[in-house]
Amino acid sequence: MNKKYNKSRGPSKTRSQVRSKSNRKSHSEYGQASGNKAFTGHYRRRPNANRYYSGNKGQNKYGKKLDISAFINKQVAITQENETSFIPEHSFDDFNINANLKNAILKKGYETPTPIQDEMIPHILNGKDVVGIANTGTGKTAAFLIPLINKVLNNPSEKIIIVAPTRELANQIHQELRAFVSGMNVFSVCCVGGTSIVPQMRSLSRKNNFVIGTPGRLKDLIERKKLNLHEINTIVLDEADTMLDMGFIHDMRYLVAKMPAVHHTLFFSATLSKEIEKLISAFLNDPIHISLKTRDTAHNIEQDIIKMRAGEQKIEILHKLLIQPDFNKVLIFGRTKHGVEKLSRDLFKKGFSAESIHGNKNYNQRQRALATFKENKLQILVATDVAARGLDIPNVSHVINYDMPGTYEDYIHRVGRTGRWGKKGKALTFV
Ligand code: AMP
Repeated sequence: MNKKYNKSRGPSKTRSQVRSKSNRKSHSEYGQASGNKAFTGHYRRRPNANRYYSGNKGQNKYGKKLDISAFINKQVAITQENETSFIPEHSFDDFNINANLKNAILKKGYETPTPIQDEMIPHILNGKDVVGIANTGTGKTAAFLIPLINKVLNNPSEKIIIVAPTRELANQIHQELRAFVSGMNVFSVCCVGGTSIVPQMRSLSRKNNFVIGTPGRLKDLIERKKLNLHEINTIVLDEADTMLDMGFIHDMRYLVAKMPAVHHTLFFSATLSKEIEKLISAFLNDPIHISLKTRDTAHNIEQDIIKMRAGEQKIEILHKLLIQPDFNKVLIFGRTKHGVEKLSRDLFKKGFSAESIHGNKNYNQRQRALATFKENKLQILVATDVAARGLDIPNVSHVINYDMPGTYEDYIHRVGRTGRWGKKGKALTFV
């Protein structure tokens, strides 16, 4: 392991990405990698996010004013000029981790650590609490899974809980874990709502190193005395800001209160609001802060708006777009569960292969729709914001905001579902 990391606070501050409380808001950001192998992220200065709220040109359905000029970016090539390539300080080989785990990383096709992995893995290996301000797409899942799997390999009785806001994200984390630990005698269970609790209770009665789940279901299992957090020393709270938005704050507090007093906490959030700061000071012990967000929108996403004229039908305009040959894998965002369901049915009636994911669908239906979309067997997936949080779907050709997003952050999140890993993507917003 790199000697510098033997100090409890990790690397010296010469690396600008590790930030103290006082300066962490002025972080640089890195961009999408140009392939799934070597991670060649880019650093670029963050545009002034406030400017997106300053205009009064467009109004979303929540009554907030959003500047629709923020939804337009046709100068795709120009934004790349200010970028410099990311050079990691470590290779995966430098990390003080189990040899089998190193092989599993190679087998997964990861050649170099992403910036968040480069910064975070040594601290987690040292047992430090960490706060990662990072979006999906930064490689944050492996940033916590790799050192935690190593912890389990060093001590097979180690127990870890990972809490995520949505069923899909919990499942995605579980799948990534299973891919890493194949053949290593590491046991895990995924406990999410919307699906029968009985098999989860059965799995929990067996040995588990990792329990991954959503807050509501985990709480339910604790109350049924099927899950005992006293034996669990390590907790990961992923997408804490989304959990907060979804009203899980009491469940999060409940879970943390049930854990032993001395625990190892890893906390991830895409934003750093006052509420998040409060949670950090309540849950974490002298944490290391690492702030590595993807820039607001990836340079390779062409963005434009679709202006509706009087008498025009939105669905007809959408139809004209979707019959064009390059609209081959389209993620459409709607505001309400009902609206999303109706749109997907209307598109299906018009002859498109379309499915929907939203909170009124059960877990299996959502997983099935997502899997067929991921495997390119479905042209269109219509989704609400919450159902699509944190999802890593390859090769989405277009994101269409059929309903305006509630906030500019939601816009960034939606648009980031296309143009991933250096691929070209397009985003269109109805205004
Ligand atoms: P995440 O931010 O954890 O959702 O990860 C986004 C995507 O990055 C996933 O498809 C991961 O498999 C991929 N990924 C994570 N780490 C690396 C790495 N070091 N090299 C290449 N791909 C990676």
